[in-house]
Amino acid sequence: MKQRKVPLRKCVACQEMKPKKELIRIVRTPEEEVLIDLTGKKSGRGAYLCGNVSCFKLAHKNKALDRALKHNVKPEIYEQLAQDFIKVEDEFLAAKDRADDE
Ligand SMILES: [Zn+2]
Repeated sequence: MKQRKVPLRKCVACQEMKPKKELIRIVRTPEEEVLIDLTGKKSGRGAYLCGNVSCFKLAHKNKALDRALKHNVKPEIYEQLAQDFIKVEDEFLAAKDRADDE
């Protein structure tokens, strides 16, 4: 039996290593937009966060997201991301539960 390797990524806020599917990817696109990438396939520089708002808030507070994206994320973008994050959090957790059942 081949062992399946789970790709691990580090949350930029709490520095924990987690399987990719448990993290939400934030991407800075070549157009300098910063957005949430649920597909994980958008091109650009990515940063990973745990799928909960507390890690998002932490990344905001200590500028971890800015550092990871090498980009000065504007307050209004944070605002937008925070709203999106709350929206996708439920969706994300539901998808994770489904994946666990497989
Ligand atoms: Zn985290």
